[in-house]
Amino acid sequence: MSLDDIDRVTVLGAGNMGHGITEVVAIAGYEVTMRDIEQDLVDDGYESIQWSLEKLSEKGLIDEDPEDVMSRVSTEVDLETAVEDADLVIEAAPEQMSLKKDIFGDLDEFTHEDCILASNTSSLSITEIATATSRPEKVCGMHFFNPPVKMDLVEVIYGEETSDETAETVYEFTEAIGKTPIYVRKDVNGFVVNSVLGPFGDEAGWIVSAGEATIREVDATMVHERGYPMGPFELGDLTGIDIGYHVRKEAGKDVPPIVEEKVEAEELGQKTGKGYYDYEDGDGADYGPDDVSGEFDWLRIEARIINEAAKLIGNDVATPEAIDTGLRLGAGFPEGPCRRADKLGLDTVLEKLQEQHEATGEERYEPADYLVDLVEAGKTGEDAGEGFYEYGGDDGERDYQTLNTTLTEDGLLEIELDRPERLNALNADLMDEIVHVLDHADMDAVRAVSFEGTGDRAFCAGADITGFAGMDPADVDVTPVFQTVNDFPRPTLAKIQGFCLGGGLELALACDLRIATEDSEFGFPEINLGLIPGGGGTQRAMRMLTEARAKELVFRGEHISAERAENWGLVNRCVTDEEFEDTVDEFLEDLVHGAPIALRKAKEVMNEGRDQDIGAGLVMESQAFGLLLTTDDMMEGASAFMEKRDPEFEGK
Ligand code: NAD
Repeated sequence: MSLDDIDRVTVLGAGNMGHGITEVVAIAGYEVTMRDIEQDLVDDGYESIQWSLEKLSEKGLIDEDPEDVMSRVSTEVDLETAVEDADLVIEAAPEQMSLKKDIFGDLDEFTHEDCILASNTSSLSITEIATATSRPEKVCGMHFFNPPVKMDLVEVIYGEETSDETAETVYEFTEAIGKTPIYVRKDVNGFVVNSVLGPFGDEAGWIVSAGEATIREVDATMVHERGYPMGPFELGDLTGIDIGYHVRKEAGKDVPPIVEEKVEAEELGQKTGKGYYDYEDGDGADYGPDDVSGEFDWLRIEARIINEAAKLIGNDVATPEAIDTGLRLGAGFPEGPCRRADKLGLDTVLEKLQEQHEATGEERYEPADYLVDLVEAGKTGEDAGEGFYEYGGDDGERDYQTLNTTLTEDGLLEIELDRPERLNALNADLMDEIVHVLDHADMDAVRAVSFEGTGDRAFCAGADITGFAGMDPADVDVTPVFQTVNDFPRPTLAKIQGFCLGGGLELALACDLRIATEDSEFGFPEINLGLIPGGGGTQRAMRMLTEARAKELVFRGEHISAERAENWGLVNRCVTDEEFEDTVDEFLEDLVHGAPIALRKAKEVMNEGRDQDIGAGLVMESQAFGLLLTTDDMMEGASAFMEKRDPEFEGK
């Protein structure tokens, strides 16, 4: 069974996850049946999908009419009818092994023999679920995150007998429904995301239980200094303190006293009105930057997270890339733990674990063999040129974490900003990687460069403020990336779909040309944060727009529409979604086939001349003109013109 063979999908369960998964599958264009055990439950799920589709439609996040999407959803109570034509079944019934085994036994009987059977379980063994069937090679885990409509990640989990064909088909199907899959190659407890995330709450619990820091101090430091979207205690309150408690107890692990106390007092978090914070009589998770004391040892938490990641890699459960993608998309981490480890230095991480292990004798600090091996081999991270990832030397290959790059045969270097979970916001890595790509581009091959964002929600929504938290102003130098793009000796084009704000707009302005879809939005919101654009935005806007318009953008901090951006001359074209790729291709076609030296000189004299008086500009122009008259390209252009054919420029 390959992706092309999947026509009909059935989702079992119309609850929280089941209805969301059904919705995602239907939005992607598949026929999908949602089954629950009672008509009322199916109806509730169906209504939830309708409600959610309306919301998505109001926000412009789906292209189709909600009714058209709904026309692909059918509901069913009878199991056999629900699954008899299915090519893929995704089970999202309650988390009980006996129930799941009953269901998979029935599925084995009622589905056709090629049908793939996937479970959305968060914590049960896929291998064991598969024993209820006669086709364990066709059973795998397909773990969505809550809510499926918003969360991009899906873990594709191998049971012991899952075939590569099954896992690959589910992986491709996940991509086909617009989600990002990662492989979990072995059926380990908690899979990838939850096992690596475990120490975030657990170690924080031990630290506070030992009186080494307060709840607020820990949460504030992790958010305001380390860039996590919320602190471990706030997260515990949100997911329910009992959930993590039971997971750890069942895995036979010790639970920090503070967690134990909360569970005994039935203060389980937001759902009971009180947990680590008080949501009824207090202000909830009300920590702020002032709670950061600088005393608390956050490295203990991060070292344990990194250690979990190292265990998974060493046991061939997942690659560093899969782990980092998983934690960024599934847990909102500002960067993946493997990437962060390479920056911290794996030797530093290992020392912290060893120090704790010696002091306490606790198993949870025991360093993973894989981590020890890396450090012993001198692979201690970015500074050493290799850690979890390879960084290469100045001329070396580098694994980009936040970019996808492709060089086409025509010489177009396509750079895709790949942080969809943060609307492709610029952080230090992303800026650094753009500079690296452009600095190391093969100038004999590259004729033009395009920039775009992954997903269709944003080109780039700005600078990732969480990444700047705790930075010393002296260390903040955001200009290199914009200057590198601005000065790149080939034409550059920004393909803008969705938000193009703040640093994202500055990146677009540093490009030579900009094409946007009509639902894109532009703006400099920095003023609302008490800042101003810091990547050349004030200066480039002043030169590109009228003074009044540039100041309107910077002073008011409001978004403007793509149509207005086109009227103002901020973008070259504003087009519909349907026209977008064709318009972009027409532009890029001219850029990659244009005369390379002439394009380079044109860019140079236009950029440099802009900042000079006209006399100096004219001198630059005529010098460049004179030089171009001596090129082979000019001869080729002239001959092609005479011979009425397309020129073939070689950049000589
Ligand atoms: P839920 O209780 O909201 O929904 C489960 C639904 O399954 C219920 O409507 C129930 O009536 C129905 N059901 C019971 N027996 C069934 C059967 N034999 N066939 C079809 N439907 C049946 O639970 P949920 O939160 O949607 O979780 C479902 C699964 O997804 C669980 O395995 C859970 O671990 C997993 N999961 C949950 C989350 C989450 O955050 N809620 C995240 C990822 C995965």
